[in-house]
Amino acid sequence: MIRELSGEENALFNEYIDKTRAYFQSSGGAPKAYVHSYGCQQNVSDGEKIQGILQQMGCDFVNSPEDAGIIILNTCAVRENAEDKVFGNVGALKKLKEQNRGLVIAVGGCMVQQKHIAEKLKASYPFVDIVFGTHTMHELPRMLYEKLTGGKGCVNIPDADGMICEGIPTRRNSDIKAYVPIMYGCDNFCSYCVVPYVRGRERSRKAEAIEKEVSELITQGYKEIMLLGQNVNSYGKNIGGTDFAGLLKRLDGFEGEYKLSFMTSHPKDCTKELIDVIADSRHIERHIHLPVQSGSDRILKLMNRRYTVEKYLELVNYAKSRIPDLSLTTDIIVGFPGEGYEDFCQTLELMKKVRYDMAYTFIYSKREGTRAAEMDDPVSDKEKGIWMRELLEVQGQIGLENYQRYIGSTLTVLCEGHDKNKPEYLTGHSRQSIIVRFAGEESLIGSFVKVKVTKAMPWAVEGELIN
Ligand code: SAH
Ligand code: SF4
Repeated sequence: MIRELSGEENALFNEYIDKTRAYFQSSGGAPKAYVHSYGCQQNVSDGEKIQGILQQMGCDFVNSPEDAGIIILNTCAVRENAEDKVFGNVGALKKLKEQNRGLVIAVGGCMVQQKHIAEKLKASYPFVDIVFGTHTMHELPRMLYEKLTGGKGCVNIPDADGMICEGIPTRRNSDIKAYVPIMYGCDNFCSYCVVPYVRGRERSRKAEAIEKEVSELITQGYKEIMLLGQNVNSYGKNIGGTDFAGLLKRLDGFEGEYKLSFMTSHPKDCTKELIDVIADSRHIERHIHLPVQSGSDRILKLMNRRYTVEKYLELVNYAKSRIPDLSLTTDIIVGFPGEGYEDFCQTLELMKKVRYDMAYTFIYSKREGTRAAEMDDPVSDKEKGIWMRELLEVQGQIGLENYQRYIGSTLTVLCEGHDKNKPEYLTGHSRQSIIVRFAGEESLIGSFVKVKVTKAMPWAVEGELIN
């Protein structure tokens, strides 16, 4: 069932935040909290809400679990290596719990929404106090309060249908870029993907609530608003009224200097009307992340993607014709069950036709409960690794050639901070979402600047600031 949080649930949510804050005040002050989110932007956004709740309880935040009295890991389930990492990190907390019996450890997010994982945690990691999935964020204050005041801790994983919870406090990790979820869950059931099982049915927030949040963020000075959803192109389907193109148009209409970006688009729901809105907009990025997954119609069908290579290319060509400075990026899965070298070569062909600026590439990872997990998967990991390297080489060359075309041109860049590799440089993203590095004063961080491109790399460009 899809529904909004009731007034009563909302009142309880706030009551437990107040009770926990009062409890901390009467017992020597709030502990420091460590919150770590794995995986996609949606998870990072959920992590910001977890931090928002803790902040209202009076907690400050630390960057390492050793310094914390409350540890919350917000997990990801999309691929097996993400899960392995979490189990490793949870295991390492046992020592901390032995040293500090008062330490509260909670594990939430997509991974624990899977029954077999929640059971494994309960059986093999008994020092974990609270396990909560993706649908019980609004119950976190109660779970924390009960644990702190002597309760046994709870495993609270309802079935993955879910709710829309408006008004949960948020502690944003950046004061330049803000994440705004516009919908939750996914109904697509791509055969390899665990997301629909762990995040439940697709449900959209009301356009008015999104509009209000975005407008407030712009007034507060945020310069990039990233709209989030597993498939933003199907926004609004379950509530009627505004569709995604309409929503973007409304959000493009505010005054002020800001950039609108969004993640992720599903090609089957990406319409020409949406591309027209982007083309004619003032604030929307000239960038579409359009995951193709494979260049073989046979594999796309097995993946249950519901488009063909021909349809995909038609969309890409239309987008390129309407938005000449468009940057396209994609996701690709290598070694889906039953994929042969000929299928893989078709993916390479497609990449050469589309000429993506960047591709996020993944070796297929078997996910329990998905349809692909039942399919024959005869190609060895070693072979898949060889294909992957071939793909990276082809894409690396295309990305570099694409970026070389920018040399000599001027890009508008949102300056986001110091460059991690070259701290004397600043870095940011252009309106095409290309990473741009340049020398400049720290005071430019958080503003839009013009940079003339002088050098291209496969993953970024460098340039000189112009006044
Ligand atoms: N909803 C988004 C993001 C899904 S997860 C979308 O549809 O694009 C992000 C990417 O992870 C996917 O696009 C896919 O390329 C990859 N992915 C998902 N499940 C996977 C699996 N089982 N094995 C390997 N890669 C996977
Ligand atoms: Fe997974 Fe497909 Fe939904 Fe993306 S659209 S979250 S890949 S099922």
